[in-house]
Amino acid sequence: MAQRMDGKAVSAHTRQRIKEQTEFFIKETGVTPALAVILVGEDPASQVYVRNKHNGCLEVGFTSYEYRFPANIEESTLLAKIDELNADPAVHGILVQLPLPSHIREEAVIHRIDPRKDVDAFHPENVGHLMTGHAIFKPCTPAGVMELLSYYKVDPCGKHCVIVGRSNIVGKPMMHLMLEANATVTICHSRTVDLAAVTRSADILIVAIGKSRFIRADMIKPGAVVIDVGINRLPDGKLTGDVAFEEAEQVASLITPVPGGVGPMTIAMLLQNTLRAAQASVKRMKK
Ligand code: NDP
Repeated sequence: MAQRMDGKAVSAHTRQRIKEQTEFFIKETGVTPALAVILVGEDPASQVYVRNKHNGCLEVGFTSYEYRFPANIEESTLLAKIDELNADPAVHGILVQLPLPSHIREEAVIHRIDPRKDVDAFHPENVGHLMTGHAIFKPCTPAGVMELLSYYKVDPCGKHCVIVGRSNIVGKPMMHLMLEANATVTICHSRTVDLAAVTRSADILIVAIGKSRFIRADMIKPGAVVIDVGINRLPDGKLTGDVAFEEAEQVASLITPVPGGVGPMTIAMLLQNTLRAAQASVKRMKK
């Protein structure tokens, strides 16, 4: 039976560390790290995420700014708000909650954020830094997975890591972080032939596809570490991952539950990036 990787507990541990670092930073510099979050529209899941981010900020001693816009907002108004936040020295991190309504170009919005305030690490400049191994900000969800693995003393070095999903926010950056940690990486997607044969060869299996209970026990190598990034809401309101947890935990050595696995780590990493942004901003001002 696998050991459960407790993302809630590890996240609390990480946030406590960030809180202590923040107290020290404020004492030393007189600057309070601040995160600005923009929410467009009324998507219920996005509202929950934004509320959690706001609470996370307050918990570690940051200032949290929230800007809410109706779903029919013009793209130009949103871009103007980003310009204003880019220019505001009291704001260290800017995050636009995705997804955005279809009339707004997500790419234009991401590109508009000052890379030095891009705490989601989605801007192409930060993507480039990640690819070359010089990331200032690491994308929150993949960084959270690495933190979780480190907490449970899973060293990816020399292991075969299979990632299912190749999105820009999870799968691809996860591949870079795993390479940096010296894993041998295979990335799979919807056109992968005989997916089960590939996933069965994984020492570390990371799944981010958005399909409830898609990965079954017979797709997992006995003793593998299984990281389930998926969050799927069932018709009855319950959340499930992309892995059939009850059967997978019979085969794996370590496994993340959903909820309570990767999700809580994502916010902790966002807070970490915001603190880094504030630290870098103070350094620039001193120059
Ligand atoms: P996307 O929809 O952007 O990407 C899904 C990926 O899964 C694509 O690369 C797709 O392949 C692949 N895929 C879909 N079906 C299959 C299949 N049958 N076999 C193999 N691969 C398949 O999703 P995201 O990466 O944004 O999110 C994935 C999941 O993670 C979602 O449930 C999301 O809610 C969750 N998530 C959780 C976070 C957290 O904090 N825990 C943060 C972000 C996301 P192709 O490219 O070929 O279409």
